[in-house]
Amino acid sequence: MDSTGTVECDRHGAQVETFVCQHILQSLRDHHRTGFCWSVEDSKARPDAWCLECDRHRDATGGDWTEENEKFAGITLICGACYDEVAIEWVLIACSLTSA
Ligand SMILES: [Zn+2]
Ligand SMILES: [Zn+2]
Repeated sequence: MDSTGTVECDRHGAQVETFVCQHILQSLRDHHRTGFCWSVEDSKARPDAWCLECDRHRDATGGDWTEENEKFAGITLICGACYDEVAIEWVLIACSLTSA
């Protein structure tokens, strides 16, 4: 299923939609080093991403996404260009997850 939609970004105009946790979104503004994690099973050009804090939280709650840790992550829609900005910035401390 190709479900790639578009989003209207204040800074970049119409872009493809991507999903990141609220902490990565916040890092776009405050440049706090959050880390950048995604699932290797996600085959999208810009896979859904979350920060190290969310990853630790997920590990601590059994390693699967649950209602509780998804709430913690607060996955948010951002534009593809914003995603690229933050992905490039954090790529050195990225962790690519293998399925457990
Ligand atoms: Zn996070
Ligand atoms: Zn943008």
